[in-house]
This record gives sequence, C-alpha cells and structure tokens, in this order.
Amino acid sequence: MSGNGLAVHLCDNGWIRVKVPLPFSLRYVNSYLLPEAEGWTLIDPGLHTPEAAALWTEVLSGLSITAGQIKRIVLTHQHPDHYGLAGWFQERSGAPACMSLPAHRYALRLWGEDRSFDQELTEQFRQHGMPETLLEQIASHLAGFVERVSPQPEVTYIEEGMSMQFGGRSWELLHTPGHASGHICFYDRTGLEMICGDAVLPGITPNISLVPGEHPDPLQQFLDSLNRLSRFDVVMAYPGHREPFANFRGRTQDLITHHEQRLHHIEGLLQEPVTGYQLCERLFGARTMGSAHNLRFAMSETLAHLEHLVHKGRAAKVKAGYGLFKYVSAVV
Ligand SMILES: [Zn+2]
Repeated sequence: MSGNGLAVHLCDNGWIRVKVPLPFSLRYVNSYLLPEAEGWTLIDPGLHTPEAAALWTEVLSGLSITAGQIKRIVLTHQHPDHYGLAGWFQERSGAPACMSLPAHRYALRLWGEDRSFDQELTEQFRQHGMPETLLEQIASHLAGFVERVSPQPEVTYIEEGMSMQFGGRSWELLHTPGHASGHICFYDRTGLEMICGDAVLPGITPNISLVPGEHPDPLQQFLDSLNRLSRFDVVMAYPGHREPFANFRGRTQDLITHHEQRLHHIEGLLQEPVTGYQLCERLFGARTMGSAHNLRFAMSETLAHLEHLVHKGRAAKVKAGYGLFKYVSAVV
C-alpha cells in the first residue's frame, strides 16, 4: 500500500480504521470500515480533498475492496471532516448515506442552494466585535468548504430510538447533540462498544460552537449528552479523532469538569463588560492568528460559553451601541 500503509490500522475488534488526512490542526479524522457478511459498512468517510480521495482510492485497492462493496455509509454528524466524502462514496457505490434529520438540515443550511448561513455567522461575529478584516477572512474560508463536501449525498434519515444492524451487531442510536446538531452515537449493548463520533474525544475537547439558527445553549446540550453517555457501560469507544480508548466514563467526566472550570474562569474575566471577540482574543490569543479556521472555532466556542453563563444567570448580555453586544458578570 506504498506510503499510505500508515493510514490504515486494524482495530482489536477486526474493524479497519483509516486515518483520513485533514488540512487543519486536527490532522486526520478516523473513518471505520466494518466487515459485513457481504461487503462493508463505512463510518464517517472524511473531508473531500484531493489528498483524501487519493488516499481512499489507494487504501481500497490495497485492501481489495471495490466501491460496490461499500453497502452503507453511516454519518455520526454533518461536520465536513466527517461528511465531506459521503457523496463521493455514494456516487461510486450507490450505498445509502445515513444521518439524522437535524444534522442534514444543518448541512443544507451550510452548503445547500440557499447558503444563508455564511452571512448569518459573519453577522453574529460582527455583533460580538470581530473586526471587518477578519470577518472577510472568515467569509471566504466558509465558502471554500463547498467543494470539500461535494457532491452531497442523498440522505437516509436515522434517529434516536432506532436500532441499526451493521458490522454483525445491533446498534442503539443515541441522539447526543452539543458538538453538532443531530449528532448520533451508536451503542452495542452486547459488545459494550460505542461509536462516539466527536461527542467524546480522548486527549482533545470537542469544539462547542454557538451558531445562528441552531440551539441557543449548545454547551448545555453538550453537558446533558455527556451526563447521559457517562451512564453507559463501555469497554471500548471509537472516536472521530485520535485513538480508540477504553476509559469512556472517565473521559466524559473529564470533559464535564473541563467545561465547569472554563466557565468559572470566564466568569472571572467579566468584571468589566467585554465583547465576545475581546474575550476570544484573551482566551485563545495567538492560537487563532493567521488561521480563519481556528479563529472561527475559537470565537464560536467563546460565545457558546458566554451564552451558557447568560442562560444560567451568571452573566448578562448588554447592548453596547453600534449594534454591538457585551457580556458582564451578573455579580458585579
Ligand atoms: Zn465534528
């Protein structure tokens, strides 16, 4: 398999994990190929870049898998690094692409015909004090994603309460929003394994973004999802990034603690009214410099924490003139 052998890992349970490259600091997304009696199920195929498509072509040929043997594409959520190649695979295999309705609706807002989302997001950032030059960079960055998710798949809807059969097992579908609208985890109650997408990640904290037109308190959704997931018995979890991991319950608790500490820290920075952008700079600083991608996620994450504090009565959101908003501690 030439140089790309490094991208292919055999999991202990017999699945094939393919590390599909990403042009971001995350570096790669995990795609999983699950053997079926006939053919394969593909979980989260990756972002559509020329490098990723070339890798897949080489990987499939190295594994002697033809496109037609992909029988089903399963998507934990609609983020482009997971969803981007779904249409590409569907075009070659004719396989159904399964994802939740809220996830698909969000994908259509981002990359459907209307594409109103980009303007709504930049407007949101403007109201929270981001300078115009950076807004322009964000807008052109967002537009660049359309080709990375094209062609887009026809979607077969799946939802909480259903079970799906794949990889020779029965999977319970768990609606676990917070990181993404409509995010689904898949739980095998017999084998005690969880396909967790980006709902729980080892080593890194999943991004939580406030985005226009979606849930007003995504951090609360995320904490609710983590609390729920922490009650499942899991011996091995298969995440969207980094390595499969065993300490699932402990990791959910760590993530909850991380956000509690983060909220406490942010609350302490609101003694004087600040815009979301001022706080974002303070929290993330140099890490967002020169990267519209990182800046977008840093800004959306900052706003998610601020709005959560407002929903909890721990901060107030005030009008500051010129269409701007600022946040201030509720106990000043
Ligand atoms: Zn994601």
